Amino acid sequence: MTRSEAPRHVAYFDHAATTQVHPTVVDVMMRCYSDTFGNPSGGHTVARAARRAIDEARDAVASIVGCAPREVIFTSGGTEADNLAVFGTPGHAVTVATEHHAVLHAVEHVGGSIAGVLSTGEVDLDSLSAACTTDTRMVSVMLANNEVGTVNDLDAVRRTLKKCAPNASLHTDAVQAAAWLDLRDAARSADMISMSAHKFGGPKGVGVLVARSGHDPQAQLFGGGQERQLRSGTQNVAGIVGLAEALRITDRDREVTNARVASLRDRLADDLTQIANVHETVERSKKLPGSCHICIEGVEGESMLFLLERQGIYASAASSCASGAMEPSHVLAAMGVPVGRSSGALRLTLGVTTSDADVDHALAVIPDVINRLRAR
Ligand code: PLP
Repeated sequence: MTRSEAPRHVAYFDHAATTQVHPTVVDVMMRCYSDTFGNPSGGHTVARAARRAIDEARDAVASIVGCAPREVIFTSGGTEADNLAVFGTPGHAVTVATEHHAVLHAVEHVGGSIAGVLSTGEVDLDSLSAACTTDTRMVSVMLANNEVGTVNDLDAVRRTLKKCAPNASLHTDAVQAAAWLDLRDAARSADMISMSAHKFGGPKGVGVLVARSGHDPQAQLFGGGQERQLRSGTQNVAGIVGLAEALRITDRDREVTNARVASLRDRLADDLTQIANVHETVERSKKLPGSCHICIEGVEGESMLFLLERQGIYASAASSCASGAMEPSHVLAAMGVPVGRSSGALRLTLGVTTSDADVDHALAVIPDVINRLRAR
């Protein structure tokens, strides 16, 4: 794009893909890089300072998630945490059709079973029961979905598992949920919980698997025996410190942020669904406050994103993937959304940095883009 073509207002509506690192997090990480650079496995003063920084971060994460510090395993992100839960729990595995590929592909890789969802995107508990057996050892049900924002009731999942898979550990991918939900409550039924710092104002490349007592995964990386032998590899000290700080800020501001962002989202969704044949994919009471997912009939998602970007709106259609290629959404297919609708899917995800002006800009641009595409 040349300078003269640059949009006047730029509005980032892709917080489910990643978030901006909070300025305070940048500060604590920079300090860590310069002052706490030791190898946390070492014995001298510099090393011990790094170890202390990790211990403090572990304590902070544990108190915010509602677990013991020794149950926190730092990883390289959400994908590794999900893979560690699945591959580290041998035996029959079950997951749900709308999961992120970090879980879904891992469960498929070990020959596990896949349960279906309701049209809301919530796990279908009957289908989950049918997929489980008394030999099932691991069941993974995401707390909140990355495309449509649907939140699952893990207490209900746990009650179901008591009957159909009493020997299974319940893992939840809380990568999207951690930015919005109090995990002490929402994830209390889970034995294992995955999180990723870059979804809540922290850096990329660092995450957590919480594994409650009695649910330790088998190690998948061997080496120096870090993280109680469960995840070898020198810890990303600044990343871990940044993750803990981002989580602390998220937890501290949660109530205010959620209320503010939900009201921005409501204004956005209310206005967009006034347009003929624009449908909100999931009712708001069932999803995260930052999620505005709509399906626009008569419009093709990729063309829409192209025109939106030219006017400074950064959004996404399906979940983002490494290739950047648009693939049909496995989430919408599992929910039974007809192709005529899902091909016009638009995921607008709001976050801490979203402003009234961003929503004004979206509402000035999106209806016009829809009209132009429909007129083609
Ligand atoms: N799980 C969910 C629900 C996600 O949204 C993502 C990221 O998009 C991941 C897992 C993977 O996390 P990471 O990017 O830290 O590997």
